[in-house]
Amino acid sequence: MRFAGAIDIGGTAVKIGIVDKDGTIIRRDSVPTSRDGEPKALVDAIVSSLRPMMDAAKGERNPVSGIGVSVAGFLDPERLGMIHNANLPALREFPLRRALENRFSLDCPLEVDSNAAVVAEHRHGAARGSTRLLGVTLGTGLGGGVIIDGQLLRYTGECAGDIGHIIVDRNGRLCTCGARGCLEAMVNVAALSERGGGRTVRDIIASARDGDQVALKAISETGWWLGLGLASLSPLFSPDTIAVGGGISAAGDLLLESVRASYHTHARPEFRDHTRVVGSSFEGWEGMIGAASLFLDPLA
Ligand SMILES: [Zn+2]
Repeated sequence: MRFAGAIDIGGTAVKIGIVDKDGTIIRRDSVPTSRDGEPKALVDAIVSSLRPMMDAAKGERNPVSGIGVSVAGFLDPERLGMIHNANLPALREFPLRRALENRFSLDCPLEVDSNAAVVAEHRHGAARGSTRLLGVTLGTGLGGGVIIDGQLLRYTGECAGDIGHIIVDRNGRLCTCGARGCLEAMVNVAALSERGGGRTVRDIIASARDGDQVALKAISETGWWLGLGLASLSPLFSPDTIAVGGGISAAGDLLLESVRASYHTHARPEFRDHTRVVGSSFEGWEGMIGAASLFLDPLA
């Protein structure tokens, strides 16, 4: 069996672990990110977490051969660092790949998190077998990745672009990008939390499972907006499958049922009747799994 280290740098946390070639997480950890944290402190925290895991794997004769890295932002064309991101300004223009490779003395290829996530769903998750796959990652922001005939779509920042910023409600919430009513602003963690009376996403999901009506409505309203947004995106990508991942997807069917109902209401017939909407198989760990998978089996 082959193993890779995996790092998924997100807006609120870095997920760190070791993943095998079948997409199974062998070890995992998570460390918080701070918006204005220095890049060096972040790299130090990653090294402190991952190095002991790598040593343990080596002791079990399962050494990792490299480290796949998923990042919440756009990459430069050589994929050496982020050129744009909404939530980690200190990492913009920082030579992240080189910094990690210097510390680990291993290859550390970077990938956009929405690409890594969609690869995980395509190779190891609920979207296996799709030939036109749209994956969205619902968390601090809304990212999207597209795989068509086995190839990642790369046309802005090495990914499918800022698909979270299509405008779905001109009177909607103000978005971090400066526009109003972007899909991201209507469905992200901040929007769900606001609908749930200021509670955390974790609290809202737990309360909804206990029958809390405000929490249930907050999740179904979020799903309704997401379904509308996915219906709007469908004519661009003609997906046969849409995979919904990210932290908020931990709500499972509470979210997915309203996404599907809304998609069915808003999408035109060819998509309404032929596109399946599936939940992520990985409970928020898909970026890490996809990054490791791309290291072990790079796309052509
Ligand atoms: Zn926006």
